[in-house]
Amino acid sequence: MKTVYHFGGDARHDDPRDAERQADKTVTGGKGANLAEMARIGLPVPPGFTITTEESLRYLRDGADFSDELRGQVADALAHIERSVGKTFGDAGDPLLVSVRSGARVSMPGMMDTVLNLGLNDETVQGLARASGDERFAWDSYRRFIQMYSDVVLGIDHGLFEETLEIAKEDKGLYADTELSAEDWHALVGEFKAIVETELGKPFPQDVFDQLWGAIAAVFDSWDSDRAKVYRRLNDIPADWGTAVNVQAMVFGNMGDTSATGVAFTRDPATGEKVFYGEYLINAQGEDVVAGIRTPQYLTSAAREKAGAKPLSMEEAMPEAYSELARVFDLLENHYRDMQDIEFTVERGKLWMLQTRSGKRTAKAALKMAVDMVEEGLIAREEAVRRVDPMALDQLLHPTLDPDAPREVLTTGLPASPGAAAGRLVLDADTAEQWTSRGDKVILVRVETSPEDIHGMHAAQGILTARGGMTSHAAVVARGMGRPCVSGASAVSIDRSARTLRIGTRELKEGDEITLDGAKGQVMMGIVPTVEPQLAGDFGTLMEWADALRRMRVRTNAETPDDCRMARQFGAEGIGLCRTEHMFFDAGRISAVRQMILADDEAGRRRALEQLLPEQRADFTAIFDVMAGLPCTIRLLDPPLHEFLPTRDAEFEELADATGLGVDHLKRRAEELHEFNPMLGHRGCRLGITFPEIYEMQARAIFEAACDVQAESGEAPLPEIMVPLVATRRELQILRTLIENVARQVFEEKGAQIDYLVGTMIELPRAALMAGEIAHEGAFFSFGTNDLTQTTLGVSRDDSARFLAPYVEKGIFSRDPFVSLDIDGVGQLVELAAERGRATRSDIKLGICGEHGGDPASIAFCEKVGLDYVSASPYRVPIARLAAAQAAL
Ligand code: ADP
Ligand code: MG
Ligand code: MG
Repeated sequence: MKTVYHFGGDARHDDPRDAERQADKTVTGGKGANLAEMARIGLPVPPGFTITTEESLRYLRDGADFSDELRGQVADALAHIERSVGKTFGDAGDPLLVSVRSGARVSMPGMMDTVLNLGLNDETVQGLARASGDERFAWDSYRRFIQMYSDVVLGIDHGLFEETLEIAKEDKGLYADTELSAEDWHALVGEFKAIVETELGKPFPQDVFDQLWGAIAAVFDSWDSDRAKVYRRLNDIPADWGTAVNVQAMVFGNMGDTSATGVAFTRDPATGEKVFYGEYLINAQGEDVVAGIRTPQYLTSAAREKAGAKPLSMEEAMPEAYSELARVFDLLENHYRDMQDIEFTVERGKLWMLQTRSGKRTAKAALKMAVDMVEEGLIAREEAVRRVDPMALDQLLHPTLDPDAPREVLTTGLPASPGAAAGRLVLDADTAEQWTSRGDKVILVRVETSPEDIHGMHAAQGILTARGGMTSHAAVVARGMGRPCVSGASAVSIDRSARTLRIGTRELKEGDEITLDGAKGQVMMGIVPTVEPQLAGDFGTLMEWADALRRMRVRTNAETPDDCRMARQFGAEGIGLCRTEHMFFDAGRISAVRQMILADDEAGRRRALEQLLPEQRADFTAIFDVMAGLPCTIRLLDPPLHEFLPTRDAEFEELADATGLGVDHLKRRAEELHEFNPMLGHRGCRLGITFPEIYEMQARAIFEAACDVQAESGEAPLPEIMVPLVATRRELQILRTLIENVARQVFEEKGAQIDYLVGTMIELPRAALMAGEIAHEGAFFSFGTNDLTQTTLGVSRDDSARFLAPYVEKGIFSRDPFVSLDIDGVGQLVELAAERGRATRSDIKLGICGEHGGDPASIAFCEKVGLDYVSASPYRVPIARLAAAQAAL
């Protein structure tokens, strides 16, 4: 089977299956597949070839060995490039040069950096100089190649080369790289080669085939680099995807003032506006634009004018190449029907396309583009709904900086990724991670970021860099992660040894609080207050489309009126879980709760419960006021009594005063109630069975509150009273009878009546297995997947941190089972319980109330097994609405 595919030039496939494989990102990687596709639709792409992802996995499996088969296919593909370009690799007269680029299925900043100008050596550099008629260009290209190859393939510290270059510039009194002459670069090549010889103990490889295979091996190896592994872990990318390698004829953006290189988006990736967006640099190569060494220039004159910048935009400096580029933008957007992120080079006035992919975007931009593209007729509503990552909505649901709050602006950089972030400034990624893990919010401040900083960027609330443009590493990664970012804040200078930061004339130290406004590019002193998010506009439109497409209902987990109000604003259609114990912990009540628990007899307990009744009733009244007309699942007291016990002497003394019982007596009672395994102890319905008066009080509070709300507003909520931790039918039968008796009494007393349901949580494996029986006693099941995961896996959620991360790293669990439902295992119990429950009671209401109710993958599973609703914390409600719609598509 072919594992090397060429593209560009006169590339064609005899076998249609090869065309299919080449177009498949899983085979040729994102970059390779799109390069081939661009060439196929007639865009100017330098010819090249792609070695498949399979080949990288084979190479790693076989212990870093190339097969003869691969060598043969590469030789053929190289000959194809040579024919197309009319140059020969290693030819001393007019050499073919290539780039070697990695390209996994998805773009991965953790992967190997690209090597450009490969094929240069002491001989071919002369040929390049002659053939191009440009000495300076040839030696500049050679020194770049030595620098890149040494860093990326030979593993030599790139700082050594940069220092040497800095010294050379200082000696000559020069500032910019572009000021160096052919002779200067020639001399530097000599120095660079000497560095390699010292560091490596052997000379820089002169054989162009050694160079090529060295670079290919480096791409393969980079799949298993630490950087790549960290990125894979953070982004749930499996280790068995592998990476492709792209080898492509060079085109040169560093051939003088009619040449350039650039990066562009077909729409603004920060706001979603339909404007060309990007940066370019004249007489530059490769990653100069994103590396932050020179400040890039604007693409369009509109953007340049808006920013008040002087250097000419590409539109002004190279009008012909620019209009060709604009034409290509439209072509690509129409072809891929999505916003594209593009890399291009202009060589002596001619435009070449080097990459295209669906561009990373902020959540705000994702929404705007999805809605706009439907209006433009580019995509259907379903596609718009499918395209927005539910988790990304999180960025929009959180507060932004109060526009009216005073701001002490320290400096303004580029608005690289929108949103507000505040925290203590830290100067490196490791510190960011450490401080965050101890509970601090931090802002990572760097001169510029690199893939080694990813873990710190992830830990930080926001990112500030002194250098780099809108398409720099920091900007791209921050947008992808949804972290606010200000880049290129050139007034910022960092003193790493003193751990201080100078911004203009202000000196700050690590740990000082600052705030970033990523949408404005501002850096502010201290913590600036925030305002609530805007839920209308594109957000509202897309959510409306999603609501029309979903089948499942979305409820919220909430236990305060404020949370309920917020959840309703976010579109919640009821409460899926109201945990009543949170009300018990309230400072004003905990004493009464403890009196009840520590009471010696039922009479003592009832006295304490009498104090609690009006409080609970008030809780429920406040909640029902907000939720009138909607179903509200209320879980009766669940946690082990153990959790409410006093621990401090002062607490015992206070209780002794309140009850008239002695401190010693109370301590002995507490001792008696101590449990070794409280999570499997005296909790849930076991409390209701042994202390029925507790559940009686709670049921009474619920019914009285519901009747009151109905009397006042004319509309009652639909209470769904939920009995936790049921394992047997009999438990639920006893407690259902108890609840129904209370209901009857209250209705009689009030002369009123409301609808309600009694049901249970399915959170023990036995309950799932016996669901057919249990359904005789309950009108609904709510899957308590937190406990069900604990009890099925035998893993304690609170004690699992120590081993869960290594378990995920080793692939034992593909994801944290408390974050994303273990569909294979726990999922079976859910599915089976749903089936058995329905067999007994065809109209049984089924929902999920664990943390998983806000996780898109788990929501997709809930759709598959036909649950009626999911329930999520208020901020996750919109995420769940969108995920439920995607699951239904
Ligand atoms: P990344 O995945 O980090 O974007 P790329 O493989 O796209 O890396 O390479 C980075 C840059 O190198 C490109 O944007 C382009 O400017 C330059 N480059 C890559 N291949 C070529 C080539 N054949 N000719 C000219 N420049 C190239
Ligand atoms: Mg790169
Ligand atoms: Mg690229």
